[in-house]
Amino acid sequence: MSKLNIVLFGPPGAGKGTQSEFLINRYNLVHLSTGDILRAEKDAGTELGLMAQEIMGRGELVSDDIVIGMIRNKIEANNDAKGFIFDGFPRTKAQAEALDGMLNAKSEPITVMLALEVPEEELVKRLLGRGATSGRADDQDEAVVRNRIREYENKTAPLKEYYSAQGKFKAIDGVGGIGEITARLIQAVG
Ligand code: ADP
Repeated sequence: MSKLNIVLFGPPGAGKGTQSEFLINRYNLVHLSTGDILRAEKDAGTELGLMAQEIMGRGELVSDDIVIGMIRNKIEANNDAKGFIFDGFPRTKAQAEALDGMLNAKSEPITVMLALEVPEEELVKRLLGRGATSGRADDQDEAVVRNRIREYENKTAPLKEYYSAQGKFKAIDGVGGIGEITARLIQAVG
């Protein structure tokens, strides 16, 4: 059986984390969120975590080498997985190329990129709303929130073309009820 490897894509606040929860249960996948891994490192007080904390606090991207290494370890540690949901990764062309290299070497390529689309003002509203309750520092400052969206537009959004060229890009309307959006994602997986 071939594996189901999904890139769940979209700007900060698009709902990737929320929707990942439904998709991992439905398809029995392993969830790999580089944001979650970095926050766990920060909470554990590791050197990597402390360094990443500063960069994340400014709303910038952590270096490719670091996140690629983290993902490589997780893929190797989950050899028996039915597939992965990549959430918040890849975020640059270098990350996408490295991921293709790792997965193609195992003959388990990315199946599809599901791109959640949400207008910017809605993203800002959602992130600041989450910041009011979640304790995530990067969700509490509008300038940082907007910088994350800029980073996304400049460095990450071009990956739509990267996956389009492989015939794997699917746009999903990310505005609506949570269940409604889950249904759209499931339909797109087919
Ligand atoms: P969001 O999508 O809401 O911005 P994430 O949890 O995915 O939240 O990411 C939080 C922060 O972690 C990012 O702003 C960035 O600093 C860092 N980060 C997460 N994933 C990556 C990645 N793949 N490459 C570089 N930096 C990352």
